[in-house]
Amino acid sequence: MDSSCQQKQHTHVLLVTVSAQGHINPILRLGKSLVSKGLHVTLATTDYALKNLSSAPNSIDDVHLEFFSDGLPIDYNRKADMDYYMDTLSKFGPVYLSALIRSHAYKFACIIHTPFVPWVSDVAAEMNIPNAMLWIQPCTIYQIYHHYYNHLNDFPTESNMNLSVKLPGLPAFTADDLPSFVLPSNTFRSFDNILNQVFTNMHKVKWVLGNSFMELEKDVIVSLNRDGHVFLPIGPMVPATILGKEEDEGFDLFTSNEKSDCIEWLNKQKPSSVVYISFGSLLFLSEKEIESIAAGLKSTKRPFLWVVRLPENQELPELGFFEEIKEQGLIVSWSPQTEVLSHPSVGCFLSHCGWNSLVESLAAGVPVIACPQWTDQPTNAKLVADVWGVGVKVKKGSEGIISGEEVVRCVEEVMRSEEIRKNVLELKAAAREALRDGGSSDNNIQIFVNEVVSSCSHHNPNKNKY
Ligand code: UDP
Repeated sequence: MDSSCQQKQHTHVLLVTVSAQGHINPILRLGKSLVSKGLHVTLATTDYALKNLSSAPNSIDDVHLEFFSDGLPIDYNRKADMDYYMDTLSKFGPVYLSALIRSHAYKFACIIHTPFVPWVSDVAAEMNIPNAMLWIQPCTIYQIYHHYYNHLNDFPTESNMNLSVKLPGLPAFTADDLPSFVLPSNTFRSFDNILNQVFTNMHKVKWVLGNSFMELEKDVIVSLNRDGHVFLPIGPMVPATILGKEEDEGFDLFTSNEKSDCIEWLNKQKPSSVVYISFGSLLFLSEKEIESIAAGLKSTKRPFLWVVRLPENQELPELGFFEEIKEQGLIVSWSPQTEVLSHPSVGCFLSHCGWNSLVESLAAGVPVIACPQWTDQPTNAKLVADVWGVGVKVKKGSEGIISGEEVVRCVEEVMRSEEIRKNVLELKAAAREALRDGGSSDNNIQIFVNEVVSSCSHHNPNKNKY
């Protein structure tokens, strides 16, 4: 065995994330990729992830799993006051995570964290462990936040909402296209604080790994690296199934008996005929919004697969409009989304534009109807419709609700547009190219792994040095 192989065998990395589906999915996928490059990988998240599971899994595809407390009882309703929750997590998280790290006999060669646990950088610095961040949104958003939180550019204010924001490597953005957290209307204090902490603490982070790929966001990635950021695009982080390969175990925070129903139902539909609708893992639509979408779907007369998420302990209401369209489609509370998107029956995706949903859709070659709500989603929608041309953006009505007629307009435009289909298939091919052995993202992962392994060889990895 050569010495680099031996070093890799001793190289343990720790991944840390909040237990939200949109954060666990990309970091687990990164973990699997690092395992395939020969590293030992432990993924730590809060024990809230176990809330809906009957037992704690030990590992997923050779990624070892560990859980730490966020300082609250598992049944505590964290969504009731996100500001309180995020404050508690940043108070107790560092204590419990440090204890977890100390409980290991070996020293971690690197800690990689997702953005909403920025205090991990402090833990890593205290323990003298190199630190990387997995940026789980587009590189475009990183560039916007970097300029906003470091006060490098003007942004819209209450008295100047018409300001157009022009940043290096990016098209001009209006207030409508910017992430909700940089606008004066933002009411989420904790997210603003956390992002502020992320961008003022970046000097503690040695590498930023982006869930994107060079061919998708080249200008902004080049611009970031030119400005001194070590920003390595390593995505799209998607499961192997979406790339047409065997696999694949994920870590779903929501249990559902409906997963096989989705695929069985899709198997009975015509190629590229189905409208898939999902607003991700966190958003709940109002009854009015659900009713409008249902009315639009009914008018399209097209088959649909719709994930309707409801607040905890709430049942799907027995609404007349569901009764009217139930023969036309399938409504579920959770879907095996990446399998759905790779199914040949799916023709388009009406999406809230969460970044994971978007990269999954691009990698599967499915056109998008962008219906953004908050955080990075408005910017992602702009990229979809105006920059990449892989879909359309809905025009919301006066109350901020999409009308039934608008659903019909968007579905018909996306399903019929040859230009959109051509663009999305080109990006699908480019995504696969980036991920193949020797492709741009694969090379970047290898560069990162080599640097971590070589920094690890400077100390005795078996000895706990904290
Ligand atoms: N997802 C899923 N089944 C569903 C809805 C969502 O598996 O019914 C997955 C989806 O594939 C994605 C993640 O949950 O990986 C949601 O992340 P995203 O960034 O799209 O949105 P968020 O939930 O963070 O708003």
